[in-house]
Amino acid sequence: MSKRDYYDVLGVAKSATKDEIKKAYRKLSKKYHPDINKEPDADEKFKEVKEAYEVLSDEQKRAHYDQFGHTDPNQGFGGGDFGGGFGGFEDIFNSFFGGGGRRRDPNAPRQGADLQYTMTLSFEEAVFGKETDIEIPREETCETCDGSGAKPGTKPETCKHCHGSGQLNVEQNTPFGRIVNRRTCPYCNGSGKEIKQKCSSCHGSGKVQKRRKIHVKIPAGVDDGQQLRVAGKGEPGTNGGPSGDLYIVFHIRSHEFFERDGDDIYCEMPITFVQAAIGDEIEVPTLHGKVKLKIPAGTQTGTRFRLKGKGVPNVRGYGTGDQHTIVRIMTPTKLTEKQKELLREFADVSGQTPLGEHEESFFSKVKRAFKGD
Ligand SMILES: [Zn+2]
Ligand SMILES: [Zn+2]
Repeated sequence: MSKRDYYDVLGVAKSATKDEIKKAYRKLSKKYHPDINKEPDADEKFKEVKEAYEVLSDEQKRAHYDQFGHTDPNQGFGGGDFGGGFGGFEDIFNSFFGGGGRRRDPNAPRQGADLQYTMTLSFEEAVFGKETDIEIPREETCETCDGSGAKPGTKPETCKHCHGSGQLNVEQNTPFGRIVNRRTCPYCNGSGKEIKQKCSSCHGSGKVQKRRKIHVKIPAGVDDGQQLRVAGKGEPGTNGGPSGDLYIVFHIRSHEFFERDGDDIYCEMPITFVQAAIGDEIEVPTLHGKVKLKIPAGTQTGTRFRLKGKGVPNVRGYGTGDQHTIVRIMTPTKLTEKQKELLREFADVSGQTPLGEHEESFFSKVKRAFKGD
């Protein structure tokens, strides 16, 4: 079953603005909400609307959709389920065999199937891009017979059973009368040709499996789940048709320190409560090397500092994201007697509540809460 176009689902034009998309979504999600709409297909419609909105409301996803359409495997990847799995080459390859069957003219040029390849990248490789060679198993035209499937020196003959059409009329007697069905000719498998003496290299298929090395340039800034289309590197076409495309889907490993959200990087930096209280300058790791960060006196835990331009280069070349460093104040756990002594002294000087206006108002709220109890 093919998926409906997301723009059609929301009933907006391809050029619709963010606001128009949002409005359309609000209207439709209300209309089909399963709590409101009790029609049997409301739930399906609601899900469809939600999915369309999730893609079209996200700039990056929308751009990707505009370029590649649905990435649903049924939409041209031969029906294999590639979702995040690592089935390996053989699985990918096999999923393209045995299909077909409903060809009209066996001699018409047909485009080769698209191939999909999952590539795992490290966090840094995704951020900075990389050039690499990959090996793709794919069908290629048999060189021995030049794709005809017939032994060199012989030629495929027109199938006598279907007279070259690749289809047979099958008559059936039913209670409603005689019905004529068109079926793929079983003698030539729909090719319309009969090979008397088969080519020994390809056993008559005209195609052989080969591993092909492809050089790919991965742009800086690719994100998990994104795909790169390498035009013309899929399966070869039949009867002179063009080759399919190769889609490289990226799976990106997580990083033990950095987290990524689009082009921005997030990380947490531990600081001591003394650094937080009286201020300090600390070194923060970024993907682009160490950076000095000034911690102002009186910094609270969870404060976020933005390091501009220290994030991920945008995959479409629109600048570079930022790094957001969130400081966490570590409460000391192993204190020496001397340290404890000093802290007690500090507490005596400070009294029961922390210093500062901000905190005072917060603590008075706490006090009021106790009184009202
Ligand atoms: Zn051959
Ligand atoms: Zn035939």
